Amino acid sequence: MQGIMQDWPLTVDKILEHARLQNADREIVTRRVEGNIVRTTYGELYNVSKQVSNALKDEGIGLGDRVATLGWNSARHMAAWYGTMGIGAVLHTINPRLHPEQIAWIANHAEDKVLIFDKTFLPIVEAIKGELKTIKTFVIFADKDTMPENSLGAVAFDLWIDGRSTTCRWGDFPETTACGLCYTSGTTGNPKGVLYSHRSNVLHTLVTMSKDAMGMGADDVVLPVVPMFHANAWGLALSCPATGANMVMPGAQMDGASIYELLDTEKVTITAAVPTVWLMLLTYLQENNLKLPHLRKVIIGGSAIPENILRAFEQDYEVDVVHAWGMTETSPLGTLGTLPPHLVDADVDTRMEQKLKQGRPPFGVELKIVDDDHKDLPRDGETSGRLLVRGAAIAAGYFKGDGGDVLDEDGWFDTGDVANIDQYGTMQITDRAKDVIKSGGEWISSIDIENIAVGHPKVANAAAIGIYHPKWDERPLLIVQAAEGQSPTKEEVLEQLEGKIAKWWTPDDVAFVDEIPLGATGKINKLALRETFKDYKLPTA
Ligand code: AMP
Repeated sequence: MQGIMQDWPLTVDKILEHARLQNADREIVTRRVEGNIVRTTYGELYNVSKQVSNALKDEGIGLGDRVATLGWNSARHMAAWYGTMGIGAVLHTINPRLHPEQIAWIANHAEDKVLIFDKTFLPIVEAIKGELKTIKTFVIFADKDTMPENSLGAVAFDLWIDGRSTTCRWGDFPETTACGLCYTSGTTGNPKGVLYSHRSNVLHTLVTMSKDAMGMGADDVVLPVVPMFHANAWGLALSCPATGANMVMPGAQMDGASIYELLDTEKVTITAAVPTVWLMLLTYLQENNLKLPHLRKVIIGGSAIPENILRAFEQDYEVDVVHAWGMTETSPLGTLGTLPPHLVDADVDTRMEQKLKQGRPPFGVELKIVDDDHKDLPRDGETSGRLLVRGAAIAAGYFKGDGGDVLDEDGWFDTGDVANIDQYGTMQITDRAKDVIKSGGEWISSIDIENIAVGHPKVANAAAIGIYHPKWDERPLLIVQAAEGQSPTKEEVLEQLEGKIAKWWTPDDVAFVDEIPLGATGKINKLALRETFKDYKLPTA
């Protein structure tokens, strides 16, 4: 027997429609690439997005066609999104930090027809234009006065939409229609495309708005430092208009001073970014003796939170830290580190210890861990295994079938992460499956070692990798980038680890480098480090 309820397709255009009707005056504030601050509202964004839809339709764009962006977080970028998605075309956010050749490869693989981009990236686009096989139309986020000279025949965004109708039919297609395309960073082999549907994006939005997840309301002011090209700015480009929260868009400037200025002048209450951004902000705050009176919550994810960042926010600035784990394939939020009820009143060290873990999945996400034979492992908070995930907004495969079948027979997706889960469902990542250091058949967590090492004031960044060892197969080498003006010794670094990890986890050696290489999403590029240190001989070998 069927239920007798309305069929209300879950399409993302309904999110902006809701924002227009309920929160038309709530603002989107953008720092433009030119440096000036501009303000618009959800009401205006709705109209501009409809104009984008009409401009795209004139270019022949329709259901399923891919429209790419290379853009910073901005109100114009939001309009490009909703204008594309509203007519059932697919918004493909390209990560501009990728190598230009990889950008060309991705745009060709996706068969993008239109590319809308910030002028910051004009040199990249001009350099690869000969390789872009499918893009017919280039649009630059600019107006008549700020439009740069170019060899692409590009049009300025504001002129492209100028005078167009603000009426256009949105939705009117099945909720399973593709809506967004985002390629994974591709540390091995070619990047693979994750193809979000309207339904998965709407469900992810509903899931992440709850109190134990992002937890925001219409009276919040949200600053997504995390870029829209990094898995939908962790869904904020959808959940902010859905709640009616103001958005503050940092554009290209993500240094400590620029972020502080926005946090302060716009009275931001919630912000989100990877740890490296917060390190820059905290340094700036400390150097200038500043406080964060308006900020109530900072969401940190993309890689594990170092303890010094957690404690600085919570104890020095009284800002609630929410650790988040996820991946492009999980839309991206998989777990959030809000405190479970039994720990809300626990002592500060217990709460900090809990918050260093990646957290618990909200309703809509299922997690489990398995061993190498794919057998379920216990939820005891100690046993580590491969982390599998299943849910309403989890990838079922990759664009064009790349990578083959990715789900097991019960529909679980292998995240490639290694984790433990405790009896309350709190998940703790202990490593990437490919980064685990295998010493004498046992696993050493590179993340644990790194997090403790960066707690040393003389250490800016640290990476632990497995180096060949004749007896143990692999032993850890700790690679350290010194903090500015500091020159820590091997002994000082190893002392920092003493008593905080099992003795046999202690790195066999410490190597110092000028800079630890980071990948396109700000994570340590271990592949590059393994290549650099492939012939390294440990003193113990
Ligand atoms: P991406 O698809 O580029 O967002 O990368 C996803 C991967 O980043 C995950 O599979 C994890 O390995 C890592 N990651 C994301 N968030 C965290 C976190 N909070 N702690 C540790 N690793 C994380």
